[in-house]
Order: sequence, then structure tokens, then C-alpha cells
Amino acid sequence: MSDLIQAGYLVAAVLFVLGLKGLSHPRTAVRGNRLGALGMLVAVLVTLTHQAIVSPWVLLGGVLVGSAIGVALALKVKMTSMPELVALFNGFGGLASVLVVGASYLEVTDKSIVANTLNLTDTFIVAAAVSALIGAVTFTGSLVAFAKLTGRAGTWRSKATTYLNLFLLLLGVAAAVALFLQPSTTAWLLAIVIVGFVVGVTLVFPIGGADMPVVIALLNSLSGLAATATGFALGNSLLIIAGALVGASGLILTQVMCTAMNRSLLNVMFGSIEIGAAADPDDVYEGKVRRTSAADVALILDTATRVVMVPGYGLAVAQAQHAVRDLASTLEDRGTEVVFAVHPVAGRMPGHMNVLLAEAEISYEALVEMDKVNPTFAQTDVAIVLGANDVVNPVAREPNSAITGMPILDADKARTVIVIKRSLSPGFAGIPNPLFALPNSLMLFADAKEAVIEINEALKEV
Ligand code: NDP
Repeated sequence: MSDLIQAGYLVAAVLFVLGLKGLSHPRTAVRGNRLGALGMLVAVLVTLTHQAIVSPWVLLGGVLVGSAIGVALALKVKMTSMPELVALFNGFGGLASVLVVGASYLEVTDKSIVANTLNLTDTFIVAAAVSALIGAVTFTGSLVAFAKLTGRAGTWRSKATTYLNLFLLLLGVAAAVALFLQPSTTAWLLAIVIVGFVVGVTLVFPIGGADMPVVIALLNSLSGLAATATGFALGNSLLIIAGALVGASGLILTQVMCTAMNRSLLNVMFGSIEIGAAADPDDVYEGKVRRTSAADVALILDTATRVVMVPGYGLAVAQAQHAVRDLASTLEDRGTEVVFAVHPVAGRMPGHMNVLLAEAEISYEALVEMDKVNPTFAQTDVAIVLGANDVVNPVAREPNSAITGMPILDADKARTVIVIKRSLSPGFAGIPNPLFALPNSLMLFADAKEAVIEINEALKEV
């Protein structure tokens, strides 16, 4: 039986690896997702047969309840709210590690249980301490990230938080050492968990503006590392492998996001950038913003030979991807060159714009990365900014702002910039955007989908 279980775990692990491999390219992503889900099904079924863990009926009950919640969420949650959902998933992954490792620890130290499958070995104690600390940090850190993404929490940053975090982390390590020295005192494990909960809040709360993508990727990685540590504590090879895959891919994503934001991870976490007060929107915009209409945009596009579309979060909100594809087709049929400039942190999750545009079957070749598209803006007749804001905000080139240092798409360098959004409201970073007041900018205040459909209709009649 034990060999069968190990073989089942191996099959699940191979499916996870193949699933991840598939996810590395848009064309194979759907298959990769299915393989990963199949791997998880095999893992759950094999675990159900592992009666030493818990009664299979309890697990089956959990699977049914979990699946029902999963299906309900998948049907209800909008694509634009996926990042919040992912933040919650990360957090609950961390909490699950804390609960599993905590329950195992109580079981191991309970002398009344004779037939214990685990022993209070050094590996067990160290793994339990690591899992409890990282899992707890992940849980509360993810809840704060969730609150920030949904606009329920702001950002408060001070030099003091850096020292507080370092102090708390030392406290967590001290409690872990104490647990190692007095393994049967379970209160030390509780202390580690409490410190972890506090660190999660104090670590993520000061991070805001453009750095949230990095934090979300990091929390994702931490949830994997916590699971790996739990796997070591339980001696469960599948949990070690699955956790390591999540941890490693999350770390790679964190690194990719840091590179995209031109920041080091330490710099993001311990925020050395001084953020000054944001400019007054009235000073930035008053008397300088020029409005336009869909009909006028069509006339401008009529004479354009090269157009760069800059999609952002608002495109996802408006679900304008299909309308944008139609407009791009109309332009291309008229001989205009059209490309899509994709910023790595546009939207609210890594790869958000790629997913959105792929959904509308916009060819992958038409999507151009920031480094490649930026030098071409100067030769671009029209840049159409579709619900993007922070990723085209020239303030990023100046010191002391919430997005300072973040590389941006140089849409302001195009001959004409058409910005389609509903108002002058700021984007995620909460700061005004001087691009909207530039002499070569025109604002089309409308929902992105409605505006693009109108422009397309007007263009067909020109
Ligand atoms: P922004 O959040 O900067 O701006 C989005 C804009 O879309 C808003 O200004 C809003 O203006 C507009 N908008 C909203 N709804 C509509 C609509 N229906 N039609 C037209 N416009 C609309 O988006 P960006 O993509 O430029 O930047 C992403 C930001 O999110 C960055 O700061 C990034 O750091 C952050 N972030 C990114 C994550 C990631 O992984 N990609 C994760 C977490 C945060 P208005 O209300 O006036 O219409």
C-alpha cells in the first residue's frame, strides 16, 4: 500500500511539473492548467487512501466543501478581481500550513497518544518552526495585500517600520531557537505563530504604489515555502515537491517583477524610497486638459500610419478586449500598422494584459514588450492609452513619488496621445498623471469599450 501511495505521489508530482511547463507559453497554458488540476486530483485521491492521516470521510467532506466553494468563486469572481482572489488563496495556503503543522506538533507532544506516526526529531522541530513562521507571515500579509487591492487599506510608511520588522523577525527566530531547546513547550510554537501574524501586517502595510505586484508574487512564493516546510515536518514527499514548485516559481516571478520595476527585493520590502506628497490634481490639470470625441479620434486615425495601443487595468474593467481587436483589424485593413505595448505590471496581476488580449485572439506577435516598443514611440503617429494610467505616468521619471524608478511606456513621446478613461481619477498608485495635460494629449472621457466601438464605427465611415 505504501509503495502504491508513493507511486501515486510521483505521478501527481510529474503532472505538476508538466502543468508548469505548459503554463510557460500562452498556446499550451490551458493544457498546462488541466494537467496541474489533474495532478491535484491524483494527489487528493491518493491522500484519501492514506488512512493514517485521518478518516477518508473527513477528507472527502473537505474535498466536497472545498470544491463547492471553488466552483462558486470561479463562477462569481470577475476577471478583474482575480488578483484579490489569488491574494486570498496565498493567505489560506499559509494558514493551512500553520494549522497542519500546529496540529501535528500537538499530536507529537501529546504523551497520551501512543500510536504516533511522527517523532519529535530535530528535523520535525526545525521544519515546524519554519512552517509556522512563514505560514503565519503569509496569512496576514496576504490579508493586508487583499485589503490594499480592494482599496480597503492605504499605505503608511516610516523608517520605524523597517526597524520594527527587523526586531520582530529576530523575535521570531529567538522563539524558534527556544522551541528547539525546549521542544515539549508548545507555547513557543504559539509565540512563533503570533510573531508571524504581526510581521505579515507590519511588512506588507508600508508597501504600496507600484510595488504591490512584487509583494503578491513574493507572498505566493512564501505560501509554497511554508508548504515545503510542512512537507518536511510530516515526511510527505508530495507536499515537499508541490511546495517547492510554488516557492521556486513564485521566487522567479518576484525576480521578474523586481526587474520590471527596476527595484531590488530588499528595496521593495524595506522601502528606501522617500515618498513626497503627491501633486495637487488642480495644479496638474487645470486649464491644460483637452477633450476629444470618438468622431475626432477617427479623423486622426484616418491619417495615421502607425498606431500603438497601450492597454491597462481599465481595459480589463471595461472588458474592451474584443472591441479593441475589431478596431485594430479595421486599422490594419486600411494599411495602418498596429501594435500593442504591454507593460509588465499593467492591470492587477502579472501577465494580466497578455491573458486579456489572448482571450480576444489578438495575435501574440502583435504584443510588444516595453524595452522593444519604447524606442518606437517617437516614430508613432498615435498612441491610444486604453484604461492605463500608472504605467504611462511620466512622474515615474522624477524623484520621490510613489512610482519613482518604475520604468514606464513612453506613450508621451508619440506625436498624438489619445487617452481613453472615464475621468481624471488616478490609477492604483493614487497620483495625478501629467501625461493627460501635455500639449500632444487628447482625453476621451468614456468607458473604454463604448469609446472603442464608437471610434471603430466612425472610422469605417471616414
Ligand atoms: P491603473 O490602475 O494605473 O489605472 C487604471 C485606469 O483605468 C484608472 O485610472 C481608471 O480611470 C481607468 N478605468 C477604470 N475603469 C475603466 C473603464 N471602464 N473604461 C476606461 N477606463 C477605465 O492601471 P495601469 O494598468 O496603468 O497600472 C497598473 C497599476 O496597478 C500599477 O500601479 C501596478 O503597480 C499596480 N498593480 C499591478 C499588479 C500586477 O501584477 N500587474 C498587481 C497589483 C497592483 P477612470 O476611473 O477615470 O476611468
